[in-house]
Formats: sequence, C-alpha cells, structure tokens
Amino acid sequence: MRWSESCIPTLKETPRDAEIQSHILMLRAGLIKKLTSGIYTFLPIGFKVLKKVENIIREEMDRAGCQEVLMPILHPEEIYRESGRLKSFGPELFKLTDGRKRTFALGPTHEEVITMVARDEMRSYRDLPQCLYQILTKFRDEIRPRYGVMRAREFIMKDAYSFHVDEKSLDETYRRIETAYRRIIERCGLEYRVVEAESGYIGGNESHEFMVLADNGEDRILSCDCGYAANLERAAALEDDTESRGGEEGPFREVETPGSATVEEVSRFLKVPDTDIVKTLLYDTEGKRIAVLLPGDREINNIKLTRILGDPEVRFLDPEEIKELTGGPVGYSGPVGLPKGTVIYADKLIMKYSSMTVGANRAEVHLTGVVPGRDFEINSFEDLVLAREGDLCPQCQNGLKLSNGIEVGHIFKLGIKYSEAMHASFLDENGESHNFIMGCYGFGVSRMVAAAIEQHHDKDGIIWPESISPFDLIILPVNVGNKEVMDTANELGEKFIEKGLSVLLDDRDLSPGVKFKDSELIGVPLRITIGRKLTDGVVELFHRKTRQVEEVPVGKIFEKILEHMEC
Ligand code: ATP
Ligand code: MG
Repeated sequence: MRWSESCIPTLKETPRDAEIQSHILMLRAGLIKKLTSGIYTFLPIGFKVLKKVENIIREEMDRAGCQEVLMPILHPEEIYRESGRLKSFGPELFKLTDGRKRTFALGPTHEEVITMVARDEMRSYRDLPQCLYQILTKFRDEIRPRYGVMRAREFIMKDAYSFHVDEKSLDETYRRIETAYRRIIERCGLEYRVVEAESGYIGGNESHEFMVLADNGEDRILSCDCGYAANLERAAALEDDTESRGGEEGPFREVETPGSATVEEVSRFLKVPDTDIVKTLLYDTEGKRIAVLLPGDREINNIKLTRILGDPEVRFLDPEEIKELTGGPVGYSGPVGLPKGTVIYADKLIMKYSSMTVGANRAEVHLTGVVPGRDFEINSFEDLVLAREGDLCPQCQNGLKLSNGIEVGHIFKLGIKYSEAMHASFLDENGESHNFIMGCYGFGVSRMVAAAIEQHHDKDGIIWPESISPFDLIILPVNVGNKEVMDTANELGEKFIEKGLSVLLDDRDLSPGVKFKDSELIGVPLRITIGRKLTDGVVELFHRKTRQVEEVPVGKIFEKILEHMEC
C-alpha cells in the first residue's frame, strides 16, 4: 500500500474529547473516525487490525469445534418479551418501528435468536452438543459511551452459544472455549488474567471474564500469586479472623454526637477508630424492609446483596421511609429497637465484633458498647462488603493485590434460563423432553483493538504486537525526489509483497521528521529507512518496540527481514 494513495489521516494534536491513550492514539493514528457519540467508522488501517483480530478469533473458535453462522441484526420485540428480557435490557435496547408499526430491536446480543434456532433444529439428544458462533455488529444504547470503541453504542462482538444434554457436556465446552479465549489473547500478544466473574442475581452459575491488564482499564481485579483472580465485584471479602474488632463489653450507652451523620464524623467526634463503628443501611426488597450491617471502614457491594436477596430491584430507603421505619433521620440508623419484622443481615466481618458503636435511631445520638445477640438479633450473616486490596486470598490466605483490566471476553454457564423461558427442548433416549442446558460466550472484537493499544504504546504512539499489526513493515524513502532511493524502495516493497508480507510504502513528499513521527505513531513493528547512506549501500532497520536502529547492507535487508519474520 502506498501512503500517498491511502486514507490514513494522522493528527499531531491530541483530540479534545479523548481521555485515555488508546482512544487518543486510535484517533491520532487515523484508525477510526467518529460519526456521533459511541459510533465510529474503522478507517483502512484500523480495519486491517480489526480483521486480524477477527481472523485469530475465527481460527480459534473453529479449532474449538464451533460453527460460524450469521444471525439477523433486526429482532422482533416479541422475542425479548418471550425471554423476559425486555425489562432487564431496559433503555439499552435500541428500538425502531417498521412500516406496519411493528416494533423491532437492534440486536444487543443473540440468546433469543439462537434459542429459537435450537428449538426448531436440535430436537434430539443425538443433535447435541453444538456450539454456534458469529462475528457481528451489536447495538447497545450505553448510558455513558466512552473511550472510543472501548465502550461504544455500535460495536463488533464475537458471540457463541452452546446447547447440551447435561452439565457435564456444558462443562466440557466451557473449558474448550476458555482455552480458545486464552489462545486468542496470547496470539494477539497481550497480557491478561482470567477472573471469576459475577453471574448476576441468577446465581449459582459459573462465569469468567478475560481481562487485558491495563492501568486505565475500567474493571478492578483482585488477584494472588497462587493463581486466584476475581473481579472486584465478585471477590469474597476475607480478613484475618484472629484479629477482633470493637471495644470493651458492658451495658451500652447513649452518647450525643452532634453533627455526626457519617462514619468519619462519628469517629472524629467520639475519638474512636472507624473500625469500631458499624453502619446500618436500610433497604426495600419486594415491599419488605431490611437492615444491612457493615463495618464502618467497609463499603457495601450491591451486586452481592442483589444476588443474596434474589432481587435485582432492591433499593435504599429514601429519607422519609427511614424516618417512618426508625423514627430517626438519615445517618443515625442502628439495629437496636428496629420494628419487628425488619430482617437484619450482617456482613460476616461483623462476627469479629465484641461490641460496636451504632446509630441510635435518633438525631445526633449514637449507642456505644452495643453487643449483637444481647442488644439485638442478627438474622443472617453473609458476605456483603466490597473486597479490597489486602483482603485474604480464599485459596491460600495471602493478601490480594488490586489491578486494573479491560474486559475483552465473558463466558457464562446459562443453564436453562433461556431454554425454559422460550420452551426450547430436546428428546432424550427415552423420548422424554428436557430443556437445553446452555452456555454463552462473548468476545469484544473492536474493544480488543483498543485494549491492545492501551497495553502497548509509548509517548510516540502505538507499538503493535506483530500478529495484529496493520502491516508487517513500513518502507520509508527519505527523499522521494531521489530516483535511486525510490527505485530501491519500490523494488524492496515488491519483493516483500511477493513473499506474502504486508508493506506500507511511505512515498509522501513530506519532511523526514513528519514521516518518522507518523511511522512511529501508527506503530508498525519494523521500518526500513532508505536515506542518504544508500550511496554507501546501507539502509536502516528500526525496531519500533525497542527503538533499536541497525545499519544493514541493502543487499542483505531482504533476507534479514524474512529471518526476523520467521523467528
Ligand atoms: P461491560 O461490563 O464492559 O459493559 P458486558 O458485561 O455488558 O460488558 P457482555 O454482554 O458480556 O459485556 O459482552 C461480551 C463482550 O462484548 C464484552 O466482554 C466486551 O468485550 C464486549 N462489549 C460489551 N459492551 C461493549 C461496548 N459497549 N463496546 C464495546 N465492546 C463491548
Ligand atoms: Mg455492558
């Protein structure tokens, strides 16, 4: 490809609304162009990278025994009503109406469509297991589209769905896809972690996320050298249980705490550590009132609470409801003397307290020396708080480390969630009907391109891993007016192309400085610079990653590159 004839609109300046490096560099290197919020065109070199990632994914999915299909993007709304997801998708679902006033959705994912295929086409246990996948544009009206193609409203996903007679068969496919995903990310040259993930309030099911490690990743991972890793949302919060919390036991006392509605304020006013204080959070779940007790230095993990209650709509009480329930204002709630029928959940860490300081359910008053079991009853101990760095690894009891990641893949054991709702079943060898056991497996193709840049860049631009670079090498003739230089560049280019390498020839009549900067910005791993030294029979080979420069006799450069590509 000749740069002079290509659409590679590089930018010198940092675009205004781009915050993270991958977004900035994708715009600056001319990989993508914004149409409107969360919607992008992949320009020629961006598209080349996307195709490379896509091909690696396709090869690995085929190797794992999955079959490629292509499902429709337009989905009749009824199918979401049938699965019960119309509500859970909510406003993320893009909707449109046809000429006959029927409502359609633009596919955000394809569990419904594929379940309908299986319902009609996989009738017998003999047809199972099967795993079908596709690579297709998805549409989600994200509340906050951001970071370019990282969180877009229109993006490319590889999604796969498997159908099984039993859990064992599902487990086999699940492991096979896990291996395929590991291979995909390794082949793309990225560092990653597979983490235990939250499977939502459905509960019980297994789910893993594939996180590309990057400082600016939106996801938080807690991991341990022993190999354990979990999404922060998911991780159990374990502390050393030989250490106790709270103060002396004795009869509890009322203490005035003027202007102290937060843990920090109470801690400062009473001169006690925040770990002595226990927070009481009040919720509504399906019309019932519940109280949740947490150590003062810990935060609630609402996802855990949702799962434990099995209620995705659990919500905090508003100030009026709090007043009605406790008689006191926000910030002074406590577990002592709550009306009968208020179920009290406590985080497991509450077991460590000999006594505690809690709200008195009266303005500007707290109770100290409160003892659970004596002064009030706890109905259930659960793991409810958000884990944090330093909490103990559930496998080896060492301290967990916190890092950031970008979720590029998510695999999930669905069980019969969709097959039951959509009446999709097969006949077993006795002629009895059962719902399919299902798995689903998503991989963000366009997000992967951004993730690769987030992990591999420097101050000068992108540093592509070789396997997904838009070109194998760039040839940069410094002076395009010099016939000998241009002849050498063209000749070399053709020889490489004949060998199957992809080459970008920067034949633009621009200053060498601009061309060098641009070549580093777009991040091709190797550059052959043909300049003044050609008169001495020498060209320069520049390695983008190490910035190492080698002088190579022009007669040897061809073999040298081929050797490098093979190694
Ligand atoms: P997230 O938590 O990042 O919103 P998700 O849980 O909604 O992701 P899935 O429904 O599991 O994602 O989709 C599978 C994969 O599709 C994700 O792992 C991610 O790589 C990709 N993906 C999801 N949403 C987007 C988006 N808005 N833009 C780009 N890629 C996305
Ligand atoms: Mg999402």
